[in-house]
Amino acid sequence: MAVTMVSPRPSFSEAFYASLQEVADGERIRTCLQCGTCSGVCPFGYLMDFPPSRMIAALRARMFDRVLKTDTVWMCVSCYACTQVCPSKIPLTAGLMARTKEEMVLAGHVPTELQDALEKTLHYGNPLGESPRKRADWALGLDPPVPILRQVRRPVDVLWFVGDYASYHPRVQRVSRALVRVLNALGVDFGILGPEEQSDGDSLRLAGERGLFERLAEKNGRAFRRYTFREIITTDPHAYNALKNAYPELGIAYPVRHYTQFLAERLDQLRPLLKRELKARVTFHDPCYLGRVNGVYEEPRALLEAIPGVTLVEMSHNRSTSLCCGGGGGGMWLDGFQWEKARVRLSEWRVREAVAIKADILAVACPYEPPRFEDAIKMVEGASRLVVKDIAELLAEAMEEA
Ligand code: SF4
Ligand code: SF4
Repeated sequence: MAVTMVSPRPSFSEAFYASLQEVADGERIRTCLQCGTCSGVCPFGYLMDFPPSRMIAALRARMFDRVLKTDTVWMCVSCYACTQVCPSKIPLTAGLMARTKEEMVLAGHVPTELQDALEKTLHYGNPLGESPRKRADWALGLDPPVPILRQVRRPVDVLWFVGDYASYHPRVQRVSRALVRVLNALGVDFGILGPEEQSDGDSLRLAGERGLFERLAEKNGRAFRRYTFREIITTDPHAYNALKNAYPELGIAYPVRHYTQFLAERLDQLRPLLKRELKARVTFHDPCYLGRVNGVYEEPRALLEAIPGVTLVEMSHNRSTSLCCGGGGGGMWLDGFQWEKARVRLSEWRVREAVAIKADILAVACPYEPPRFEDAIKMVEGASRLVVKDIAELLAEAMEEA
């Protein structure tokens, strides 16, 4: 990306500092110890001109304009690792990094592929640029049909917020169909919004497009209000994070759970249905927005351990120290840009960890991950026998007749 100079604004650092006070706990930035722990743990910190601790030092020196002249923030994948380790509990990911990205977006300094995703979302309600009318096409031909609320016009127990990649990406559509099999086997009364569903917008918010995020949230909120349901489940940890933590700030508040939480609560009912032995060493990749951000670590593991024949093994980075797949916070649309600088993908580091512990299956629970890890497997030596499966796919397979 060609980065052009941003006009210096004499009071910009002060104004930026003040704007951070609007972020929850933003005032804590004043308590930074300059210990550098955040920069040390950042997966791409070594490639940033201004990793988080240096950004704060520049802010204090009233030289934040210099940060905006670099492409530092576009190496941030919003993984929350820095926020997690900061001893001063400074909201680095959702505060400092997201606010800085907002400034870059306002100034028009956005890598082309991210700009493309932002424009597609603005026009079509999803970053893939697919037709909103095709949002439920992944469910065509399923028997029984997946209830689309505006067609069935009845209350349901559970509204399934499917999300962008689980709706449109061919690899992840397989995960959606697997989850339908599991929900039907459990007799869950569920429905989806279909064409009325918009992107949850969380990754766009963390990539600096807060205005677009709010617009999408308002549209989803209007759709929710049209129907009667008891709770929302979602396949996407980013949607889960948005619905749980960010939508309520906009007055859109519903009980929401990730599908692994919902299913883990029904383990007693699920276990007798899991008859087929899978006989595999399985390791679980904690998605940043399920684990580190929202503390959901045990439910996915409980589901995997319920599958006959599964031996659960842990990678060296697991739970709160899980390595990011590189897809969050706009990373899905910065792959080319980051590859130019790093010559490695974060997903490849993760695949190497799974290979090191001789896992047969890399289990995932986020729609960004099957395509990212399957791509990484092609690049990592010795990884060709590793298989990537969403937990929903493994459960559905274990339900099949042997
Ligand atoms: S980890 Fe926290 S206290 Fe330490 S340098 Fe980073 S922001 Fe400052
Ligand atoms: S959120 Fe992750 S990628 Fe972004 S600065 Fe923090 S540690 Fe680095």
